[in-house]
Amino acid sequence: MLIVMKTNATAREVDAVVDVIQAIGLRAHPMPGATRTAIGITGNEGVIDSRRFQDLPGVAEVIRVTKPYKLITLDLRPEKTIVQVGDATIGGGELAIIAGPCAIESREQALAVAEAVKESGARFFRGGLWKPRTSPYSFRGLGEKAWEIMAEIRETFGLKIVTEALDEAGIGLIEQYGDIIQIGARNMQNFPLLERAGRSKLPVLLKRGMAATLEEWLLAAEYIMAEGNYNVILCERGVRTFAQHTRNTLDLAAVPAIRSISHLPVIVDPSHGSGNTYMVTPLARAGVAVGADGLMVEVHNHPELALSDGAQALTPSQYAQLVNEVRAIRRLTSAAG
Ligand code: PEP
Ligand code: MN
Repeated sequence: MLIVMKTNATAREVDAVVDVIQAIGLRAHPMPGATRTAIGITGNEGVIDSRRFQDLPGVAEVIRVTKPYKLITLDLRPEKTIVQVGDATIGGGELAIIAGPCAIESREQALAVAEAVKESGARFFRGGLWKPRTSPYSFRGLGEKAWEIMAEIRETFGLKIVTEALDEAGIGLIEQYGDIIQIGARNMQNFPLLERAGRSKLPVLLKRGMAATLEEWLLAAEYIMAEGNYNVILCERGVRTFAQHTRNTLDLAAVPAIRSISHLPVIVDPSHGSGNTYMVTPLARAGVAVGADGLMVEVHNHPELALSDGAQALTPSQYAQLVNEVRAIRRLTSAAG
């Protein structure tokens, strides 16, 4: 159920509705918007009697939600969510670029890539500390040791740190030292992990599971939001199909599809979405052209020596060129409205 407050409803009236929701053992999710506040309700298993709310002061409308989504929807929040990360944003006017190596391998490697990321004007640095690898014998990241390197990058370049958490302890560490919690494709339906991210104050970048439908992905975002964290960024990174010319099939139609359902920002990862360096820039251009709010791109100072995902890494100069091109596309598409 969704309660839409009148445009002139007071904060006190909103609080009074929230109190009633809580008094019957449910959770209230007030979402202030440009013209009105809506309040989502979660925690109910059956149908809630709308008559409890319809006559409360300030209530304009009580809407029964028939879709599986309660909090990600445009019904709850018609304006796009802009995720604030310190002084940077994702989902606002500026194209958000999150770039860096697949994994932090050494101080020298990470700083060299971070310098290129900073130089490009991007605000976000990515790099895995704990890598979910298909084989247990592959390089699985430096782990906690790499926080020192991340701290130096944050300090020296002022970049926001994005890294993937594989477990709840990882989220705790990102809360201490990082800026955005990344939940990877393999954990998109790790529900306890999603709930833990939902209790965090940090924004969550939720990658699409490699075999997830749009509905499953959006419901994973609901898990996070139902715990009270509304700063979720969706990341399309390709799904597995019968295609053999790419690592994954980048589903660019997901961008406008999400846009038609949800207020959450959505970004595109052309690196995991293709698996091949030569495809990354063309797919990045396409991602921006279909309206993505940003990109996540893997960059390595020596792709041929990379300990993971070298085949899809851009060199710093390829990356700089990509950023110039996608910014130009962004200017065109935003000018076109
Ligand atoms: C990554 O971003 O490094 C990663 C492992 O991506 P995904 O979860 O999309 O496979
Ligand atoms: Mn990778």
